Amino acid sequence: MALIVKKFGGSSVANAERVFNVANRIIDDYKKGNDVVVVVSAQGDTTDDLIEKAKEINPQGASKREMDMLLSAGEQMSIALLAMAIEKLGCPVISLLGWQAGFHTDSHHGIARIKNVNTERIKNEIAKRNIVIVAGFQGLNKYDDITTLGRGGSDTSAVAIAAAMKADLCQIYTDVDGVYSADPRKVSNAVKMDEIGYDEMLELATLGAQVLNNRSVEMAKKYNVELEVLSSLEYKPGTIVKETVKMEKTLIRGVAKDNNVACISIVALEDTPGIAFKIFNKLAQYKVNVDIILQSVGRDGTKDITFTVSQDQSQLAVDAIESLKGSLNYKNIKVDTSVTKVSIVGAGMESHPGVASKMFEALYDAAINIQMISTSEIKISVLIDSKYADKAVSVVHDAFLG
Ligand code: ADP
Ligand code: ASP
Ligand code: MG
Repeated sequence: MALIVKKFGGSSVANAERVFNVANRIIDDYKKGNDVVVVVSAQGDTTDDLIEKAKEINPQGASKREMDMLLSAGEQMSIALLAMAIEKLGCPVISLLGWQAGFHTDSHHGIARIKNVNTERIKNEIAKRNIVIVAGFQGLNKYDDITTLGRGGSDTSAVAIAAAMKADLCQIYTDVDGVYSADPRKVSNAVKMDEIGYDEMLELATLGAQVLNNRSVEMAKKYNVELEVLSSLEYKPGTIVKETVKMEKTLIRGVAKDNNVACISIVALEDTPGIAFKIFNKLAQYKVNVDIILQSVGRDGTKDITFTVSQDQSQLAVDAIESLKGSLNYKNIKVDTSVTKVSIVGAGMESHPGVASKMFEALYDAAINIQMISTSEIKISVLIDSKYADKAVSVVHDAFLG
């Protein structure tokens, strides 16, 4: 007998047939005598559809509090439907919203962080031998307002429950059968991994491999929760995400891309000491998360500073720089949203020279221009024109893993 946490993503519960498929998988484990806690996302494209509905009412953007109120409804629907299916199949079940399941978060609507999960209610329901179905992606802040955890946040809900309840298994079911060396829907020769370490998985998720939400990996690492990513439609082993201790360090583990990037250039800045401090201090005050930074060599007393942010923060970044008018001399600001960040990840690159050059050669052979480069111990990212994004992922993948 084990305590199993299972999470099913939107496509796994997209219609009635899929809901029954998931219900049956849950019941299989339950009937073996296990305790089963299930986290579900909103069905199919429900979350996107709700965002569109909000835009119909207020194209400028509704308040974040009301957006959370709206978006959390998607998961409310799916937990009730899944519970109804399990009920129909004759097993005891109860659905719980995030707050009923004890999810307490901070107050950053739209991207709230889980502070703690009070698992008392879940434990009581399990003691009654109920299958417990929990709404992913949502919680309650200290003002008793509904919050959401950011897109893809149901993965984090599942890991949080697994950590809080010290579950024996945490299974993340999705529409592919594991974690691959690149998005298997885009790269036909992508390779499925049997295992991957937390650090490499965290980089891949952060750099755009949406199969796991990056915060869920961060949390899994922090609380040492071993995850399995597997298919909700096929019965076969998936990919285990765990601490790397015994794992062989491969040179390159995977390739990921992120389209949600805006590149901002401040052109012809005065070339004097303290300029970078002034700009990035102001961006920090505006709570803009800056990713890659590039400064040109000074010429004729001026220089350019270019940096990247997520697209939803690009206007905020421009506002921050414009607020410095009067104390900062520059010609103009350029914003480019038609850029994509393509990255390679691998713990083995630390000790292998020549990895960057191999990546750049693959891009050069495909005549793809690199606009910016950034590196860390286990990743190399380049910024390129979005129209070459899929091609870039494919040629870089071929160079290392083809
Ligand atoms: P869910 O709704 O189950 O949470 P997501 O759509 O969030 O599913 O994530 C699964 C998708 O992630 C897959 O359909 C796949 O296209 C994409 N994906 C991107 N990179 C990878 C990767 N490296 N390995 C596996 N899937 C990936
Ligand atoms: N339904 C939410 C989303 O679409 C949360 C999730 O799927 O994990 O982002
Ligand atoms: Mg997801």
